[in-house]
Amino acid sequence: MTRLVAGSATDIGRRQINQDRVLITDDGHLFAVADGMGGHRRGEVAAEMAVAHLAGHMHAEDSLEHLVTAISDANRTVFEASSSNPDLQGMGTTLTALAVIQDDGEARLAIANVGDSRTYLLRSGELEQLTEDHSMVAEMVREGHLSVEGARTHRQRSVLTRALGVEPHVEADIIEVLPSIGDRYLLCSDGLCGEVTDEQTASVLRRLARPDEAARELVRLALTSGGSDNISVIVIDVVDDDNAAQRASDGIRDEAVSPTRIIPATPSADGAKQGTRLRRTPRTTARSRIITWRTLLFTVLLGALATIAVLVVRNAPSDETPSVTVSVVPTTVAANPFDPVTSVTGGSVAAPSTGGPTSSTP
Ligand code: MG
Repeated sequence: MTRLVAGSATDIGRRQINQDRVLITDDGHLFAVADGMGGHRRGEVAAEMAVAHLAGHMHAEDSLEHLVTAISDANRTVFEASSSNPDLQGMGTTLTALAVIQDDGEARLAIANVGDSRTYLLRSGELEQLTEDHSMVAEMVREGHLSVEGARTHRQRSVLTRALGVEPHVEADIIEVLPSIGDRYLLCSDGLCGEVTDEQTASVLRRLARPDEAARELVRLALTSGGSDNISVIVIDVVDDDNAAQRASDGIRDEAVSPTRIIPATPSADGAKQGTRLRRTPRTTARSRIITWRTLLFTVLLGALATIAVLVVRNAPSDETPSVTVSVVPTTVAANPFDPVTSVTGGSVAAPSTGGPTSSTP
């Protein structure tokens, strides 16, 4: 059975109100961070509505389609509230969520994202940002017009290109990953990644074993680095993967194991999968393949080295195998020194040793 253990922390930072919301379900199948949109009215209401809707409509054992539908409905709920209530007009929220889903009877982790909150994966000590920010500065970085460091301090870094609840329909990025024991996921609002570098975050996640301690330490670090925004963090450890990663590594299902997909959060009439398109080679499968090739290469090199070593030992000079001796006595050169035909007389040349009996002159 796939089992996740999580810890979380949130802080208001130097703001007047905390518009972030954190969701961890009791049975550990659903986690989310929502960041009510700054600059809009009642962002905290939008964030609250989004996570509440998700918690109420996404259950354990649900499929990816359930998650997509839940996000689509959460978007519509926030949008309709915003459209019908002048006090809530213009509200919206980011949403990054991780859910345990069922895919053909096997557990997978689905990560959904809208906006600039993030989901990271720490695997084998390496931290990778899984989600892409839907923000203006992120697009500038992707297009090569702005550096990552420049984006962190850019005046318009809070401008989102996609958010939940601001339009009738929204497209969420969906990433499906194979659960693997030892993996650690981090969900956070931009109050963390705006203040703390990925290197600092990775260091904390590597150093502190308990998820709740790591979450608290990350929030503390963001506060001491400035804490200009609300900060919310969930750290999730995969403590049991039902041997899914091992079975994938054994190549039982290979490429089809964990497709990484972008799925519109608005399901089509023919079902959500119609809108599915491959985003990139699944990390987990690619890693398994890399390990396989590395192992094969290592084995071949080891064999080659062993063969060379045996040949060297067999050909090494010893008392029993006299070294090759060449003795040359005065030669007679053809009358024409430029004649290519040169005769050598009175000497003998032992054949080079080839590992077998050799002839030599004493
Ligand atoms: Mg924020």
